[in-house]
Amino acid sequence: MNKRGHVLNAALLAIGVGYILEPSGDVPTFEMIATSGMPIVLGALLPDVDTAFGKHRKTLHNLPVLAAAYAWPIVFGTLQYVWIGVLTHYVLDVMGSKRGIALFYPFWDEEFGFPVGVTTSSKYAGVVTVLVTAVELAAVFLIVRYQLPVGNLSETARAAFGA
Ligand SMILES: [Zn+2]
Repeated sequence: MNKRGHVLNAALLAIGVGYILEPSGDVPTFEMIATSGMPIVLGALLPDVDTAFGKHRKTLHNLPVLAAAYAWPIVFGTLQYVWIGVLTHYVLDVMGSKRGIALFYPFWDEEFGFPVGVTTSSKYAGVVTVLVTAVELAAVFLIVRYQLPVGNLSETARAAFGA
């Protein structure tokens, strides 16, 4: 997916997450969107830095980078929410484009992707981006609202989103 798709995905995700966690539609909702929106968008732009530094879809498109982004606020107290942007970038690359990503780089070069998706230059790229975002938001909604029995994911999501 290209930068436009990733920004669209991250911005829509932040708006949706704001409404899921603060459904009033009032000031708290917009505070949630503002608090998480910018870091999520910046996180969504981070992985494609490897188009200039390193190997694209490998160097910054893997689970160790996601783990580092997730742990960063716990260790250093900064960059909250950025991991959500990194994660949604991976999801969009895996589900929304023909080429996969090297999840286990630098240990394994293999790129993983779903056998669906469109090329990043396709005229359907925007539609696919919105669909992928809708699936992500449905997952967040189900996990947070119904506290699905998926380990401590519900608590983790609430803590991560500051709810
Ligand atoms: Zn990417």
